[in-house]
Amino acid sequence: MSDPAKPVHSLSESLLRWYGEHKRPLPWRKNKDPYKVWLSEIILQQTRIDQGRPYFERFAAKYPDVHSLANADEVEVLNLWQGLGYYSRARNLHHTAKFVSGKLGGNFPHTQKDLRKLKGIGEYTSAAIASICFSEAVPVVDGNVMRVISRIYLIPDALNDTAQKAKIYKHAVNLLDRSNPGDFNQAIMELGSLICKPFKPECEICPVSSFCGAYKHQKTTEYPKPKIKLVKKERSLFFLIPVFNNGCSLLTRRNTSDIWKGLYTFPLLDKEKHKERLQRKLAEKACPIETISIKHILSHQIILADFLRFQIKDRGEFCDLWNYATGEMVNIVKEDAISSTKDLLSMEEKSNIFEIEFDELFLKYPLPRLISKYLEKRPLEKI
Ligand code: SF4
Repeated sequence: MSDPAKPVHSLSESLLRWYGEHKRPLPWRKNKDPYKVWLSEIILQQTRIDQGRPYFERFAAKYPDVHSLANADEVEVLNLWQGLGYYSRARNLHHTAKFVSGKLGGNFPHTQKDLRKLKGIGEYTSAAIASICFSEAVPVVDGNVMRVISRIYLIPDALNDTAQKAKIYKHAVNLLDRSNPGDFNQAIMELGSLICKPFKPECEICPVSSFCGAYKHQKTTEYPKPKIKLVKKERSLFFLIPVFNNGCSLLTRRNTSDIWKGLYTFPLLDKEKHKERLQRKLAEKACPIETISIKHILSHQIILADFLRFQIKDRGEFCDLWNYATGEMVNIVKEDAISSTKDLLSMEEKSNIFEIEFDELFLKYPLPRLISKYLEKRPLEKI
C-alpha cells in the first residue's frame, strides 16, 4: 500500500514530472482538438497504439475534421476501418460525426455528462475527451490505469470484478491532479503502457515505485488479480461459396443488427439441417464440395464456421439449391447492375445477395475478419 507518510499528491507530482519528460509524441497529442482526440480514442479501443496509429493517420488525412467524416460514404468508412475489427465502433463513429456536424455545428460537448450522450462514447472515452480537451476534473480508468492502481494499492479483487472497479475509481479520483487533469490522465495511462506493463513491469525506472505496494512487497506478478473467466457461447455458421461457370460467386450485405452490420459475407445458413439438405442435394448432383472449418473467437462468443465451396452452373441453380435447403425463395441481383453504394444499400429492400467477380472482393467491400481469415487460407483466385 502507498506509504501514508507520503502524501498522495506527491505521487501525482512524480507521475506528471515523468510524463513531461517521457511522453511519446503521438499525432493526436499535437493539440487538444476534440475531433482528433475522439478519433484516436475510438480507434484505440481494443487496439494497441502501434497497430491503431496508422489507422488514425489514414482517417485524419482523409477526413481532417468532423464535417468531412460526416459527409463520407458509410462503405468507404468501413473499408478504411478494415482490419481493426469490432465494426460497430466504425458505424458509431460515422453516426456521431453526422450528429456533431449536423446538429451541434461541428462542436463536441465540453462535459463528460454531455459527451456520454453521443453514440459510441462511454464512460472512459467521455472522461478522456472532457479532461484532455476541456480540462474537466474527471479520472479515466482504462486497462492500463486499472493495472497501475491495482499494483500500487494491492487491490485484492479480480480485474473484471465490480467491487474492484469501484475501488480503483475511488483511488483514481483521489489521485487526480485537478489543476491538470488531462495530462494526469494521460500520464497514468502512459505509465501503464510503457513501464507498468502486464508482464515484467520495469519497477527500477518507475517514477512512482516508492509509493507502490506491489513493488515494496515484491508482489508485482500477483497484481492485478486475473479476470474471472466467463463461459463463451458457441455458435455454428455455414457460409456458402458457389463457384459459377462464368467464374463469379455471391456476396451478401449484412443488414441484421449484429457485429457484422453493414459488412459483406458469403451467403449464410445458420441451421445444421439446412446445411445437411444442401450437401445431400449437391451429392445427388455429383457436385464436389470443399469444406474448410475455422474457429473464430470473439470477446463474447466462439464462432465455429464451415465454409462450403462448390461448383455449379449459375445463380439460377443456386436459387433452386437454396430453396431446397431452406424452404425459402431467394432473389439474386447481378453485381454489374449496381453502380453506386446507394444502389447497394437500397437493393437490400429487394434482395441482399448479389453476384460478384472474385477479383472485386477485396477492392470494394468491407469484410469481417472471419471472412478475411478464410480468404487467407483459401485464396479465391485458386478456383
Ligand atoms: S513500481 Fe512497478 S508495479 Fe509499481 S507502479 Fe511502478 S512499474 Fe508498476
